[in-house]
Amino acid sequence: MKLSEIDATLREIQVAPVKTLGQNFLHDQNLARWIVDKADLTAEDYIVEIGPGLGALTQFLLDSGARVLAIEKDRRLADFLRKRFTTDRFEILHADALDFDLRQLFSQLRVKLLGNLPYYISSQLLLKFTKYPSPISLWLLMLQKEMARRISATPGTSDYGALTLVVQLHYRVEYLRTVPASVFLPQPDVDSAFVRLSPRAHDELPDYDAETFSRVVRRGFSQRRKQLRNLLREEIPAWNEAASAIGFDPRARAEELTLEQWIALSNLAQSADSSAPVSIGLESFPVVDEEDCVLGEAPRAEVHGNNLRHRAVHILVFNSLGELFLQKRSRWKDRHPRLWDSSAAGHVDAGEDYDAAASREFQEELGVTAELTRVTKLRATEKTGQEFIWLYRAQHDGPFELARSEIEYGEFFPVNVISEWIKARPDDFAPGFLECWKASTQDDVEALVPSA
Ligand code: SAM
Repeated sequence: MKLSEIDATLREIQVAPVKTLGQNFLHDQNLARWIVDKADLTAEDYIVEIGPGLGALTQFLLDSGARVLAIEKDRRLADFLRKRFTTDRFEILHADALDFDLRQLFSQLRVKLLGNLPYYISSQLLLKFTKYPSPISLWLLMLQKEMARRISATPGTSDYGALTLVVQLHYRVEYLRTVPASVFLPQPDVDSAFVRLSPRAHDELPDYDAETFSRVVRRGFSQRRKQLRNLLREEIPAWNEAASAIGFDPRARAEELTLEQWIALSNLAQSADSSAPVSIGLESFPVVDEEDCVLGEAPRAEVHGNNLRHRAVHILVFNSLGELFLQKRSRWKDRHPRLWDSSAAGHVDAGEDYDAAASREFQEELGVTAELTRVTKLRATEKTGQEFIWLYRAQHDGPFELARSEIEYGEFFPVNVISEWIKARPDDFAPGFLECWKASTQDDVEALVPSA
């Protein structure tokens, strides 16, 4: 929209821009087109636009053929947009973007998030929408210049801080351009900047433990002027050795370390931590025949290496809303790392029966106990990795104490979101879970959910 059109539209719909809602409307058409170009859109894309306002960007987003979900807090603008864009590829949600339930985006194939954000909530929004793991594959955001500089900062600069590292741990951040206040009506008090965030490839950075990383970084940046050695004494007692191994000056301050050095530091802090990744491969499993009768025992590596039939349990945990808890397998797992899986799952050990294994796995992985009910048994096939699987269900509202060496993350999801997610992106899931899901939902998804 041109300046004169914005002016006329605001008068027509009797809206005076509300400062507290960050209502500064973009009137530079070339810039709007340039922004949308950076999203590389096709008809396959599903765009979530935060704060569409009068539709300055929405118009170009829809021109690309993509579907657009726009979230606008001001009812008057939401009503205006509903009338302005009548295509069925456009959906307007009159809501506060901070209340938006991100989980529903997992059911879309290619999600991109775009917005000329209201500055008063940009840091909260940024942290909410860049929470890891995320179904979003690209972020294009207009931010207050200062915020854009902070998240794209490089070491040794005053903008470089804990926020930089928390965001850059999962995303590559590009500061694309500074945007002067003059392209908005009314003009904001500060300049803006446009940034693009793309998720990092899984093997781009060394492995780390997320909780330890975040703790060490926050502690390190808690007093920027102090040398790190004084702030991290408890975490890293052998400081000089650590500095020389990682390659930084032992008198360094937090802003001098690169992301990779912070990861190395947090890994040293973690090695003293009891929840470091466990080494696996030493256990023995019962080997069974095609009728699930025990033939003998074999070490884990042999069972998996030779595709021998063996036994496993999967447990699906529902909360009182009927949502299912999914775990994201740890990066350290030897099989299917980082894929989404049943709430808890594991092998039946030698000398153990299915029920005992289910109770043990449930307790070990989620740190709680609950009554487990048998749902169904799956035959050993290629798809189950030659595992006979007994599937159980349980009811629990959490919170859980996740076994960090096994599970990277876990969350409850509505079952209809999971159904759609599996249809859109089956490769996000461990094959054993997909088989359990298929077997248990053949008739009716709701039948799986225990009655409250
Ligand atoms: N995208 C439009 C443009 O570029 O002209 C408008 C951008 S304006 C900076 C921010 C928009 O976000 C406004 O339309 C405002 O009403 C909306 N907004 C403010 N707070 C919001 C919130 N919490 N959730 C969703 N939208 C919000």
